[in-house]
Amino acid sequence: MTELAARLSAIDDRIADAARLAGRDPAEITRIVVTKFHPASLVRELAELGVRDVGENRQQELSGKTAELGDVDVRWHFIGQAQTNKAAAIRRSADAVHSVDRDRLADALHRAAEGDDVLDVTVQVNLTDDPGRGGVAPADVRSLAEHILTLPSLRLRGVMAVAPLDQDPAPAFARLRDLSEQVREVAPDADWISAGMTGDFVEAIAAGATHLRIGSAITGPRPDRG
Ligand SMILES: *Cc1c(COP(=O)(O)O)cnc(C)c1O
Repeated sequence: MTELAARLSAIDDRIADAARLAGRDPAEITRIVVTKFHPASLVRELAELGVRDVGENRQQELSGKTAELGDVDVRWHFIGQAQTNKAAAIRRSADAVHSVDRDRLADALHRAAEGDDVLDVTVQVNLTDDPGRGGVAPADVRSLAEHILTLPSLRLRGVMAVAPLDQDPAPAFARLRDLSEQVREVAPDADWISAGMTGDFVEAIAAGATHLRIGSAITGPRPDRG
């Protein structure tokens, strides 16, 4: 077994254990492998190991890898901060965008629709006290969700967040779960909770996460971008 295969299966075992401990079915959890900064060849290797969902956080890298890997059958999740003027390029390459955090970005993604394709999106919530971090303020989650519901080429799937650094992630994930319930009051099918990274996916699973975004624990350390 390659090191990559061993790390992937070790993480999948830990996901399954954490799910069972939380009284959940591991099959209801989607493990997205975050491949940012790694070469496209890594995505190909992951796909050969059965990975079906990968995550990228920069538009240029997403566009480059999807162009190079047209023959590889994975779903591309865009999880990074998005500039409005990159929305069309993101939409062309991504199957889901987790980082919709303002009306204008939702509008730009909608305007970039081609034909009758529908893009899965989640509302990114900022759970930190720093307004400069990505995500909409918790108080504005519902109104952003309602705005997305007016845009027919976007399918609102749920909420996404990154836990604040250097704090116990559990209270942040509990808050995200509450916000998920608020969103489901206006969009009952929007049941994705995208949360949990290498350092906190066990806590995220305990709090109901449906989509984990795990990078370095599976891929190994990210190459330095210089
Ligand atoms: C990089 C990244 C991840 C994965 O981080 P790891 O700690 O390597 O697992 C998850 N979510 C977002 C938004 C990221 O940018």
